[in-house]
Amino acid sequence: MNKIGIYYAYWTHEWAADFHPFIDKVAKLGFDVLEVHAGTIAEMSSAERQNLKAHAEDKGLELSYCMGLTQDYDIAAANKQIRQAGIAYLQKIAKALGEMGGGNLGGIIYGSWPATMPKDTTDKRPFVERSILSMQEAVKVAEDQAVIFNMEVVNRFEQFMLNTCAEALDYVAAVDSPNAKIMLDTFHLNIEEDFIAEAIVRAGKNLGHFHIGENNRMPPGYGHLPWTEIGRALRHIDYQGFVVMEPFLMPGGQVGSDIKVFRDLSKGLDLDEEARKALLFTRGLLK
Ligand code: MN
Repeated sequence: MNKIGIYYAYWTHEWAADFHPFIDKVAKLGFDVLEVHAGTIAEMSSAERQNLKAHAEDKGLELSYCMGLTQDYDIAAANKQIRQAGIAYLQKIAKALGEMGGGNLGGIIYGSWPATMPKDTTDKRPFVERSILSMQEAVKVAEDQAVIFNMEVVNRFEQFMLNTCAEALDYVAAVDSPNAKIMLDTFHLNIEEDFIAEAIVRAGKNLGHFHIGENNRMPPGYGHLPWTEIGRALRHIDYQGFVVMEPFLMPGGQVGSDIKVFRDLSKGLDLDEEARKALLFTRGLLK
């Protein structure tokens, strides 16, 4: 049975947050995993990290980590100084997560987010090639810290480099590290892949982390994604990793702006109750 989690930003308008109350809330709702923002963890003191780790352990909760690189840390950038800053930043994050006991970092860590291909460009290969070389440097620290770097495959409106599972497989094969894996997200798969289940099966043993969310980023069960098929595909590849839901319902703040929530999807809903329902739905799916 996979451990099931939820991303804290379901409840927030800003990425920066105190994660302690979410540990209590998410454990009480019955989740196994809380996913938090990796950048925030890297900014904490070692003592604060130890506190957070101890709190999660006390509640029997595992933590996973997510983020998108900003333009200042774009490891695919043409500018070498920016690439170097990005490599150093990923290494700093790997060390911080190492202090937390290691684990899974996922997201757009191979380039900046959100990003589109520059207007005068039609070939993304130079971006991908630069990113691979940078990632080979950054992932060495992840290897030492028992941290897995999971490249999240996202849709074309958020990033241009890895839009399909096949592209991400080529990328991690080139990086060639046991700590470089793929992360898939049903919201993005729904936009880019021909067949969602086939993409999951194609990822196979390279799948290190998995996000779930509906076509409209509602909690699983509210939209039209083929959940039975998705559950079957995860079982078919014997996926043992975390399954983390990442619903976004509230407009406003940096989260609403970055995720482009331009209408209130939370209207009339009790967010805690919806999370509890989605957890039951997901447990049923992965049985
Ligand atoms: Mn995601």
